[in-house]
Amino acid sequence: MATDPEPFTLPEDVSAQPVPIPPLERSRHVAHCNRCLAGLPASLTDIDSSRMVLAFYCLGVMDVYSALDMKLSASDREAWRGWIWAQQAGGEHGTGFRPGPFMTRVRQPGYTDASAPHLIMTYCALLSLAILRDDFRRLDRAGLVRFVRACQDTNGGFTTTPGADDADLRMCYCAFVVCSFLNDWSGMDVTRAVDYIRRCRTYEGGYGQSPGAEALGGTTYCAIAALYLLPQDTAPAGRLTRAEHRQTVRWLVHTQDGATGGFAGRTNKVPDACYCFWQGAALAIMGEKERIDAVALTRFFARCQHRFGGIAKAQDEAADPYHTYLASAMIAIAQGAGTWALGPLDPLVNATEETAAWARERVPARPVLA
Ligand SMILES: [Zn+2]
Repeated sequence: MATDPEPFTLPEDVSAQPVPIPPLERSRHVAHCNRCLAGLPASLTDIDSSRMVLAFYCLGVMDVYSALDMKLSASDREAWRGWIWAQQAGGEHGTGFRPGPFMTRVRQPGYTDASAPHLIMTYCALLSLAILRDDFRRLDRAGLVRFVRACQDTNGGFTTTPGADDADLRMCYCAFVVCSFLNDWSGMDVTRAVDYIRRCRTYEGGYGQSPGAEALGGTTYCAIAALYLLPQDTAPAGRLTRAEHRQTVRWLVHTQDGATGGFAGRTNKVPDACYCFWQGAALAIMGEKERIDAVALTRFFARCQHRFGGIAKAQDEAADPYHTYLASAMIAIAQGAGTWALGPLDPLVNATEETAAWARERVPARPVLA
């Protein structure tokens, strides 16, 4: 293509002036999640079956913005700790945490209680307790190791509850975080788990939800974080080869949309605030954070801020705790300027560094020596 030797420019090229990025509306986002912690509108009753996840996102937002002590009184925090411990449930297949106190008519085999523990809820419960600075004295550690072991499927992946037929990378990631927090990997066959993760890898360099599925942002984060959570000495060729690393980074980087600055969860999909975390945190874990266009990403988040508080998946959508938390977590990883400087956040376990350190110190049976 021929180039113009004297390109035309306006005498005062105002179009070249960058539009200032609006401030991060911290207090409004905290208020949004505080409201959701107290109760949800009738339109969101389907979330009732995963109340533990909702609690984690709301408490997580307060933690990321360092607002927990300001928004929740000491008795509120104690009440939340008590509620989470009330969801610890044990049985023949070990002990974990259930989604909430709701009743189901389906009795889970091996558990006397009608609602059996669930692996994703267990991950959320441990992180929420760490956010609330619990001492973990009530944790049934031996039962938790047995529960994780009971959730490992014959295919190497992990299921939500023991014996369920729903193994995918999300539960795999939760099992890796639980074992990492416990500093005890006897609850999983690591070689088979890593083999399962590798079978979820696709030709694009991302990871599908299960073997043979299309690459997705959320499950790619789960795969990368799980592989990096493995202690180096126990990793059976767990980490990526250099060629795999390059391929994964290329796919992740290409999911950042040049027009809006947001990340999409799949090739040729529209950007979404939650995928900004899943894709961006995966890049951060791999030591490739600098490849993110952080300014464009911040502009995207600024547009996703809802005027009544909370962050939505995209501009002009309704905000919710899930997108508010994940967007805020990514803002903490990206470390912007001014009001956009939050953090620091541990991208491997998806919690502030202080909360992650609290869990690593208090969840293991024996304290971890620094
Ligand atoms: Zn989303």
